[in-house]
Amino acid sequence: MANAVWHKKLRILLDLTRDDLDHPELPDLWETVYKTDRFYGRLGVPVGERDLQCGGVCRDVGVEAPMHLRMRGGRREAVHERREDEERHTAPMSDEHKAYQERILRAAQEGGFNGDSEVRTRVGRSWIQTDTLVEGADGRRIGWEVQLSAIDPSGLRGVRARAAKAAKNGITPAWHTDRAAYAQRNDTHWTRSDHLPAHVIARNGDLRIVSGFRVLDFWHCDIHALYPCPHGVRRCGKAHATPKPRDVLFDDMVRRTAAGAIVPIQFRAGTTVHRYWVTNTDRDRLDDLHSDDTRLPPEREAAPVTGASRNRPTCQPTPAPITVRTSPSLTALPALPVQPPAPKIETDSTAGEAQKPHTRQAADDTSGLPSELITLQQAADEAHLQLQQLHDHHDRDLQRQVWRNAAAAVQTAVTRYARTKRLNRHEVEARLRQLVRHSAR
Ligand SMILES: [Zn+2]
Ligand SMILES: [Zn+2]
Repeated sequence: MANAVWHKKLRILLDLTRDDLDHPELPDLWETVYKTDRFYGRLGVPVGERDLQCGGVCRDVGVEAPMHLRMRGGRREAVHERREDEERHTAPMSDEHKAYQERILRAAQEGGFNGDSEVRTRVGRSWIQTDTLVEGADGRRIGWEVQLSAIDPSGLRGVRARAAKAAKNGITPAWHTDRAAYAQRNDTHWTRSDHLPAHVIARNGDLRIVSGFRVLDFWHCDIHALYPCPHGVRRCGKAHATPKPRDVLFDDMVRRTAAGAIVPIQFRAGTTVHRYWVTNTDRDRLDDLHSDDTRLPPEREAAPVTGASRNRPTCQPTPAPITVRTSPSLTALPALPVQPPAPKIETDSTAGEAQKPHTRQAADDTSGLPSELITLQQAADEAHLQLQQLHDHHDRDLQRQVWRNAAAAVQTAVTRYARTKRLNRHEVEARLRQLVRHSAR
């Protein structure tokens, strides 16, 4: 028996502990569903071909378990058709599993975060069941799921879907195991500890996460580099990131994920997407690395989670100023704006061909592109390159802004030039980049 039933056709969960099945918007739902099920029964329709499945543990682990309904002593009951499904509900939670739940809650509490076990979060017409949910900073919710050696491998079906559903509904999935085979799966951000007895897990001593957390090594692809270039045998001159496994204490993991200082990332290597945890500063730096003028990294809130002051007196504008070679046309430009000034573009586009203020300047001999664009693109690329080479978090914030401004400037100029000349903007941009990035190196 189970309390939660999934209706395949209506695509809703029915909560048998409630009179209205937790669907006040559907009056007489029980009568309708129950009568239909009885009717199928009289016709001899097998349970597996009817509308109802277990919506509890079985569904959570990705198993479609057919159910039928009955009334017993005036009580509504849903019954599994197969014994193996029923047994899934009666399997007691292992002592190790309970010890992990308690440890997560204790570690969270010591870090100033609340949490609870076996939490049901309502989402639309169904819900998400979370093993242990930690309420972190800034509305962050970390959904811990502990999967230990004892469980049936079929219990791992649907991990990706469950993790994705949690993430989509604002719960960061954090799956933990003591089994190497699970930790190697890329379906979610698994962490793993060694296989330990419950009394060790429950203790206050060190409990280590031995896989699932990485530090990113950022390096420059030149002749001094320790690693081979991920894109080929030769040195490409670009910046790369290489993940390196690193142990982390379990309690720290619980608290730092709640604080937002450790975050999950997806890292593509070849055709495989790897999923693991990194510090938020490594994540930011990776975003910088993968970004481009047209694909800027997401704005992050400036609040540091490390507790270090952002306003150290020593860290006034350290990033080297971008070297823009002075050209006559550049001096006419406004100070590099963060957002392209929209009205200005409008004016230019309506000006059309009547006046050609931007075509009088010098142009590159072979490409025909104005040198103003080339200079701006060089400046933006230079600013981005410098960003890759900075290590200090605060310096990087400042330099990221320098680069954003430079990128905005070149984007605006490209748009204006393409409109004035009635050219395809995308082609102008591609030609410009080809020219700047492949003639310089
Ligand atoms: Zn079930
Ligand atoms: Zn390289």
